[in-house]
Amino acid sequence: MSEILIDIHNHTTFSDGCLTPLELKSLAEKRGITLGISDHLDYYHNMDTEDKFDDYLRTLDRLGIMKGVELGLLESIPVSETQLSRLDYIIGGLHRLVIQGDEVEFWGEKRFEGDADKFMDNLVDGLIRGVGEYPIDVLAHPTYVPGYITCDTEISKLWTVERMRALIGTCVEHGVAIEINNHWEVPHSAFIKTALGMGAMFSIGSDGHSERSCLKIEYPLKVIERFSIPGDRIFTPKRAVKRLLRFV
Ligand SMILES: [Zn+2]
Ligand SMILES: [Zn+2]
Repeated sequence: MSEILIDIHNHTTFSDGCLTPLELKSLAEKRGITLGISDHLDYYHNMDTEDKFDDYLRTLDRLGIMKGVELGLLESIPVSETQLSRLDYIIGGLHRLVIQGDEVEFWGEKRFEGDADKFMDNLVDGLIRGVGEYPIDVLAHPTYVPGYITCDTEISKLWTVERMRALIGTCVEHGVAIEINNHWEVPHSAFIKTALGMGAMFSIGSDGHSERSCLKIEYPLKVIERFSIPGDRIFTPKRAVKRLLRFV
């Protein structure tokens, strides 16, 4: 089967990436990959006002690059719905949770101290709420679990069949594609297989932040080939955000 050379999850200097959109565009042309840029749009990164967002969109338009963002699920969004409707697509990623009143970060200092099962219950609940309530087209790094939770635990003990089915079912119901993420190499095989069987859509994302990691899609391509995921099950932005204005 022919390879689908697209990568819609890349970060630039507009949030926490190292390359400018222009540098990324040149790299994409060199590598022959269709590029979408999806910088963080939240209060934890640079792009946290309508003015900065406007500048971002104008820059990508000028360069003819597909315009996405990565929203922080369960977080406040710094721009209005009207502003969001200027995007070609929206990715959503869960980066933090509140568990029993305490903020827990997946990548930061604030770690969850309880047991893995409790973390997983809260994680899956948070992902399901995020997919159901936010106007997203793609769920980023869907099965990522912080290293301090996974430790030596087998993935099947964390991502049980019930948890997988609950999350995938919500994605299917809301028309949200499941990202195959190169950087974190998620989801794992059992999740992909279940999602394929349940009729889910998928999406290809490097989640790159530098020249070394942007536009790298080996893991997604390997998964697509291994499970023979057909091209029409891969989300490609139609230069229109389809599910907008549902967000409250
Ligand atoms: Zn993310
Ligand atoms: Zn990202």
